[in-house]
Amino acid sequence: MSLRGLFGNKGASAPVVGNASGGVMGAINPAADQAAMAGMVLATIDDGVIVINSANVITLINPAAVQMIGCEASENALGLEYLAIMRFETGEGMPVDAPQNKIVGAVAARQYFTTREYVLVNMQNQRIPISLTVLPTASGDTVMIFRNITKELEEEGAQMEFVSTASHEMRTPVASIEGYLGLALNPQTATIDDRARKYLEEAHASSQHLGRLFQDLLDVTKLDDKKIRLHMVPVDMVETVRSIAEGQAPAMGAKNLKYSFGSGEDTRDTIGQQVYGLVDIDFLREILNNLLENAIKYTPSGGAVWVNVRGDGDRVLINVTDTGIGISPEDLGHIFQKFYRVDNSETREIGGTGLGLYLVKSRVEAMNGKVWAESAFGDGSTFYISLPRLTLEEYERQKQVLQNTQMMGQQAMAA
Ligand code: ADP
Repeated sequence: MSLRGLFGNKGASAPVVGNASGGVMGAINPAADQAAMAGMVLATIDDGVIVINSANVITLINPAAVQMIGCEASENALGLEYLAIMRFETGEGMPVDAPQNKIVGAVAARQYFTTREYVLVNMQNQRIPISLTVLPTASGDTVMIFRNITKELEEEGAQMEFVSTASHEMRTPVASIEGYLGLALNPQTATIDDRARKYLEEAHASSQHLGRLFQDLLDVTKLDDKKIRLHMVPVDMVETVRSIAEGQAPAMGAKNLKYSFGSGEDTRDTIGQQVYGLVDIDFLREILNNLLENAIKYTPSGGAVWVNVRGDGDRVLINVTDTGIGISPEDLGHIFQKFYRVDNSETREIGGTGLGLYLVKSRVEAMNGKVWAESAFGDGSTFYISLPRLTLEEYERQKQVLQNTQMMGQQAMAA
């Protein structure tokens, strides 16, 4: 069926209602009218739509899809397998072939899937960044809807550039304000009365908050823009997590929180287990510090914080658990969103930017991991991080590779 034809004939198939004098001009056929309308919508929308059958063969294609795929006419696409006329690449120009291609995976598994990860390479060899959705239907067909997002990406890029430049530029004066307020509050460098001290302490705390916000914003733009290069190194996860978490022990002590590392009462399980992983140490440090700072912030004095690492099949599972205020089920689904802050009587007085957990999620996912939380409101929270695990052999081999690369780098520098 030619959709252009349908579109062209819309006058003939448009619903017929009574004429000016109330006389009926033709019979009303709601089903036919609906089909014609659907055809008209498909023919006019800017989104590309194709329908493929269970053999991956295109059975319907709308004009926007014809144009994006660059096949000139729907007849040139109908009856062909979709992968014969649609190729996909990553944003960096690497071809994504069948086993790695998540679109192909979703079509084969008949799963709903949506992505902005790929660039469509069309029949004219043009590269079009797209947003694509795979929608399996009850009839066994699959609908694929895609949209050119070039303009969207440019706008997002410009927005990100602005936020990044603005936060970068604003960090310097804020650091200077914070520094001078610190000097004003220091009895060795300034003399102030008690009232002034109270005001300056408030200003100092706010300037620290602002500095943190700019730093978080800068990190968010860098991560969203995938500007940060990861340096993945093989590590002993137990020792690495233990030493990072240890860094927060003084802050926990200062708030009178009981801190433990290992599997609860009996630490032998963790210590006895070999758990290795491939991580970016700076990312892991930021992630754990963020989770621990939250655990400290949201746990009243006298509570407890527990960190553990264990191997779970081919994953490393880290948990940061606290006995704090907890998170309600309604909020739990949102806490990893950008700028999401829980607003209730417990949290209102506690400062934050709402970017911490978004950054945690971005960093964990950049290392091919997953993060999630479990919590009972009023009864504490557990944040889990699952990362790919290395076997001892893989760990040794990766360490050797790293040493060789470092040695080659040193030799190149010396030459
Ligand atoms: P914030 O800067 O507000 O702490 P985050 O992104 O780190 O932002 O966290 C989002 C929200 O999730 C917080 O506002 C807080 O309400 C909730 N939250 C995070 N960690 C915990 C925790 N350990 N216990 C209770 N609530 C938490």
